[in-house]
Amino acid sequence: MAKVTIIGAGIVGLATAFSLTRRAHQVRLIDPSPASGATHYAGGMLAPVAEVQYRQEKLFPLMKDAARYWPELIAHLAEHTALPLGFDDSGTLVVAADHADGQHLEELALYQHAFAMPAERITTRQARTEEPALSPRLTGAVSIPGDFQIYPRVCAEALLDACRTLGVCHIAEAVTHLKAAERVTAIHTTESVYEVDEDEQVVLAAGLGAGEITGWDNPLQLRPVYGDILRVRVPAALQPLCTKVVRAFVEDRPVYIIPRAVDQTIAIGASTREDHLREPKVGAVYDLLRDAIRILPGLEECELIEAATGARPGSPDDLPYLGRARARNLIVSTGYFRHGILLSSWAARRTTELIEGLAPEDLQHCDPYRHERSHTL
Ligand SMILES: Cc1cc2nc3c(=O)[nH]c(=O)nc-3n(C[C@H](O)[C@H](O)[C@H](O)COP(=O)(O)OP(=O)(O)OC[C@H]3O[C@@H](n4cnc5c(N)ncnc54)[C@H](O)[C@@H]3O)c2cc1C
Repeated sequence: MAKVTIIGAGIVGLATAFSLTRRAHQVRLIDPSPASGATHYAGGMLAPVAEVQYRQEKLFPLMKDAARYWPELIAHLAEHTALPLGFDDSGTLVVAADHADGQHLEELALYQHAFAMPAERITTRQARTEEPALSPRLTGAVSIPGDFQIYPRVCAEALLDACRTLGVCHIAEAVTHLKAAERVTAIHTTESVYEVDEDEQVVLAAGLGAGEITGWDNPLQLRPVYGDILRVRVPAALQPLCTKVVRAFVEDRPVYIIPRAVDQTIAIGASTREDHLREPKVGAVYDLLRDAIRILPGLEECELIEAATGARPGSPDDLPYLGRARARNLIVSTGYFRHGILLSSWAARRTTELIEGLAPEDLQHCDPYRHERSHTL
C-alpha cells in the first residue's frame, strides 16, 4: 500500500484519488475548491471518434483507451456512492447544416473509416427518426453509437463522495510551492506546511494551476484556452427535446448540444479562443445560440439559465503531461486540454500503474519535460 498526496481535485485528481483508494492506497487530496476549474465548465463528451482531428494520431489511442475505461469506472463508482453519476451512453449524432458542411462531414466519415472507427453514415431522415426535434433542413448525418457523455459536475460530486466514503482525506487549501530536490519533502499551502514521508508519492494534478506551483524544476508550458458554454432548461411540454448528443457543423463552425436527462437541461458549446477574455464573449454566445437553434429549433423555447467561460489547460502539442518528474516521488498529471473529462479515466489508471511501479508504454509521448528546452530558450 502506498501513501499518496494529490494536488488538485478536478476530474483528473478525483478520478485518480478514486482509482488509488479503491486499490487500498492511502490518499490525501489538496484543493481549496474541488471541481471548480475546467471540470465545472466542460461539456463532458466522451467522444474519441467524433472528436478525432487530423494529425493527432498520438492522441487518438489514449482517447480510445480512455473511452473503453469509462464504463468500468462508472460501475466501480456506483458501488461507493448513492449520488447520481451523470453517465449517459445514448450515443452521438453528427449533422451538417449546409452543403459545404455536408462535404466536411463526408470527409470526416472517410477519415474515421480509414482508422476503422465505428461511425455510420445515415440519412437525415433516419437522424430525425432518432431525434424528431432536429431541423428538417439538415444536409447530412453520421451516427456514432460508441461516443458517450457524462455530466462533469454531477460525476465530480459522485467521485468526491465516493472518495470520502473510502477514507480519502481532503484538505481545502491552495498549494503554493513544493520543497523538492531529489524528492518532494514538503508541500506548502496558503495555510500550512505538510511534510511528505520518505515512502510517500505526490501527484500534481492541478490543471492550469500546476504551472504556477514552484519549488521544483517546473517545465510545464500550459496556456488557458477559453471556452464559452451555455445551459438552457427545457420546458416541461417539450421534454425531452433530444436524447443523444448532437454535434453539428454550421457554415464550418462546430457546435454541440448535450441533453442532461438528470435535470432536463441542455448544454450548448463551446467556443475556442485564446484572447484572454475571462467572461462569456458576446460574439461567441451569439454564434452558439444561432447555430444550435438552426440545428434544433425547439431550443428557442427554452430558458437560458447560464452562460459561462472555462479555461482548458492546453499544452503546445495538445498531448497531456503525464509521467514522473526528476524529484523521484513526484508524478505530473495535467495538460489534458480539450479532452480532460474523457482522458481522466485513462489518467487515473496510468497514474495508479506508475505508483504501483509499472512503466506504461503509452506514456512515451507525454513526458512532462518534453518542452523544457524551448521553455528555457
Ligand atoms: C467549455 C469547455 C468544454 C469542455 N468540454 C469537454 C468535453 O466535452 N470533453 C472533455 O473530455 N473535455 C472537455 N473539456 C476539457 C476538460 O474540462 C479539461 O481538460 C479537464 O477538466 C481538465 O481536468 P483537470 O482535473 O486536469 O483540471 P481542472 O478541471 O481545471 O481542475 C484543476 C483543479 O486543481 C485545483 N487547483 C488549481 N491550482 C491549485 C493549487 N495551487 N493547489 C491546489 N489545487 C489547485 C483547482 O481548484 C481545480 O479543482 C472542456 C473544457 C471547457 C472549458
